[in-house]
Amino acid sequence: MKTWTRRAALVGAGGVAGWGIASLINARLPVYDGTRRIELPTAETVLNDASGLSATPVHKHITLSGPSDDALIAAIRQELAQAKSDKRPLNIGAARHSMGGQAIPRGGTAITFDTTDIDLDSTGLSYRAHAGARWSQVIAALDPAGFSPKVMQSNNDFGLAATYSVNAHGWPVPFGPMGSTVRSLRMILPTGDLVTCSRTENSDLFALAMGGYGLIGVIIDMDIEMVKNTRLSPRFAVMDASAFAPAFRDAINDPGVTMAYGRLNVERKTFFTKALLITYRETSDQSNLPAASGSGWLSHAASRLYRAQLGNETFKSFRWWNETRIGPRLAAGDVTRNALINEPVATLDDRNPSRTDILHEYFVGFDAFEAFVQACRDVIPDSYQEFLNVTLRYVAQDDQSVLSYAPVPRIAAVMSFSQELTQRAEADMARLTRALIERVTDIGGAYYLPYRPHATLDQLAAAYPSAETFARAKRALDPDLVLRNNLWDDYLGQL
Ligand SMILES: Cc1cc2nc3c(=O)[nH]c(=O)nc-3n(C[C@H](O)[C@H](O)[C@H](O)COP(=O)(O)OP(=O)(O)OC[C@H]3O[C@@H](n4cnc5c(N)ncnc54)[C@H](O)[C@@H]3O)c2cc1C
Repeated sequence: MKTWTRRAALVGAGGVAGWGIASLINARLPVYDGTRRIELPTAETVLNDASGLSATPVHKHITLSGPSDDALIAAIRQELAQAKSDKRPLNIGAARHSMGGQAIPRGGTAITFDTTDIDLDSTGLSYRAHAGARWSQVIAALDPAGFSPKVMQSNNDFGLAATYSVNAHGWPVPFGPMGSTVRSLRMILPTGDLVTCSRTENSDLFALAMGGYGLIGVIIDMDIEMVKNTRLSPRFAVMDASAFAPAFRDAINDPGVTMAYGRLNVERKTFFTKALLITYRETSDQSNLPAASGSGWLSHAASRLYRAQLGNETFKSFRWWNETRIGPRLAAGDVTRNALINEPVATLDDRNPSRTDILHEYFVGFDAFEAFVQACRDVIPDSYQEFLNVTLRYVAQDDQSVLSYAPVPRIAAVMSFSQELTQRAEADMARLTRALIERVTDIGGAYYLPYRPHATLDQLAAAYPSAETFARAKRALDPDLVLRNNLWDDYLGQL
């Protein structure tokens, strides 16, 4: 018997970075069937994403609010039919923090969901949520009831269906990507048919849409697993980079460890030679957990140190010294799981109009980690790019999604660069990205698809051996190719 508790409804998407949905509130407001619809009125709308480098003209940008009910389904069907008859693409986006137009339909209909609707099932340890809900809203709903998202990214701005559609991972362990925590979802196919998908119902569609970048259907709501929120205590271990993979494997195999990540030093001279492993274990006292706060002063202080590294090798050394010597003392206190993951991207914002933050991410097996570190040493320090950070995470095997980046358990290396907004920097970043992908695919690894579209088509096929299968299935489901974005136009659609 399920005990559903209604927790939240209709919260605005004020946290959207880059182009600000909130500023569209004064646009035309045609209302139909209970679903609020905000439409940008001109054909000159240009959408961008978190990179600031993806400016793409769209035909229109619509924000749909309201619950995932018949009115929303009717509105999506209407837009799909209209797009099909106009021969234009359609694509749904959430925070548009992907960095290469993966949530932008060139010349087409861009839809953003601006709503949350979250119902907890405390006994079944799950919640049913609107596809457009953001993790900050989920945490706000789960935290007072003593629960926490099972897997989400390290920041809280992203949309739920978007997270499923890139099949993102986090740093709670020992889990695989977020798709592994989704029990079922409802999705509108390009034909307009509404389907329920899970591991046992329409399982082929479930596997295609998981990490399917919105190319299979429009997800409207989802049933997602949650875990108990817990009080945790950190441990810090500094080691040579060569000792990291075995130490990380031991931490993952330790049932007491529930969250874990690593770091490597980033000064050019000694690049990636030292490692830091941070693990969190439950404390004996799990009573009276405090409410999940947002960014604390420590996150803000860490962000200032992070920025001060720009062009300053001495500061990169200082940050490493601070993170390995001072940080463990400052961060030694207990903290809740929810407080650790309730971190907005804005905390890291560079506020520098001449630069942009660009992420890369690579996935390699534990046995290939040393070769990966060597590849990074060979390629990154010689480049013109400012490398600011790498975080190492664990991703359990994902044999469900068609476009899986972890067919075996892998270490994920999330890298942050600060890129100058010049053509020279963009060309250098493209060269660097291709060089890294080449080395990573040579050792059997993969790169992550939501970032800059610099890979070659051959590199995509090498990193994602099922990409052609995915493209074939997509063409069969969507012969008019209504659901499209840059990932289809430049990559999958070319296979
Ligand atoms: C600062 C930062 C930190 C990050 N940290 C992590 C991390 O810790 N782990 C990790 O794995 N990734 C991480 N990422 C990558 C991130 O998970 C992706 O960029 C993700 O796409 C962001 O979510 P979004 O809401 O911005 O998605 P969007 O860019 O808006 O959309 C992503 C994709 O989902 C599709 N989509 C969205 N909604 C729907 C829907 N309702 N139905 C069907 N398709 C839909 C879109 O079409 C698009 O293809 C990070 C990115 C940034 C910028």
